[in-house]
Amino acid sequence: MRIILLGAPGAGKGTQAQFLMAKFGIPQISTGDMLRAAIKAGTELGKKAKAVMDAGQLVSDELIIGLVKERIAQDDCKAGFLLDGFPRTIPQADAMKENGVDVDYVVEFDVPDEVIVERMAGRRVHAGSGRVYHLVYNPPKTEGKDDETGDDLSIRPDDEEATVRKRLGIYHEQTKPLVAYYQAEAAADACAYLTIDGTQPVEQVSSLLDEKLS
Ligand code: ADP
Ligand code: ADP
Ligand code: ADP
Repeated sequence: MRIILLGAPGAGKGTQAQFLMAKFGIPQISTGDMLRAAIKAGTELGKKAKAVMDAGQLVSDELIIGLVKERIAQDDCKAGFLLDGFPRTIPQADAMKENGVDVDYVVEFDVPDEVIVERMAGRRVHAGSGRVYHLVYNPPKTEGKDDETGDDLSIRPDDEEATVRKRLGIYHEQTKPLVAYYQAEAAADACAYLTIDGTQPVEQVSSLLDEKLS
């Protein structure tokens, strides 16, 4: 099973990725998590990516495509994977196609910008695992701590409101064209395309996915 999650920053991709990983037993490939791990580890890649990410801009297609190619070649991706945050531009989608990486489902999460801004203000993350919480909508069992490890949760530097608005602008400009791109792929029977109303509560979105993906 190969799935692409498409949607604005904060649309709920990472949250639903946790559900889909468990449902299908496939790994989550989150390019954002991979970049943040590289920053934390102080690698060359991390050094290149940090300033760009903190400013809310996109890392270069070349760098990201290389990263994903390497990741998809690993053994745990043989039975499938869940792409979260990739592709984010037309050249990234073209690169997947050129490399013969087909997908079964493209799932688009539809959420208006004003809802996104509110979500990002309350987002808290567990850096080690990719688990995501929200102060109000999806709070951890213990305030400020990850449910599974008890580690401290953190606030992403790029979740500050001005940066979120900038990221939304970039989403509409560079990522939104992928909606038409994959709808055309679906019309040619290359994949199935699904739009989900991402404003519904977390559990409701999960049960819709549970029902529609098989
Ligand atoms: P390591 O101890 O080598 O960092 P990990 O289990 O953390 O091992 O990661 C194994 C591979 O998966 C690495 O290539 C890493 O970049 C990648 N990886 C780690 N976290 C994620 C994630 N959330 N999404 C996609 N790939 C990830
Ligand atoms: P969100 O889902 O909140 O937008 P991500 O964790 O997916 O955030 O991405 C965080 C940042 O990492 C992006 O703003 C961008 O700088 C960089 N990034 C992640 N994925 C990509 C990608 N596919 N192409 C370019 N930049 C990326
Ligand atoms: P993305 O990976 O698309 O950037 P996240 O999964 O990180 O999005 O979600 C962004 C924020 O919104 C997080 O704080 C998360 O807990 C919260 N969130 C996710 N899905 C929902 C939902 N359906 N309703 C309300 N809040 C949500």
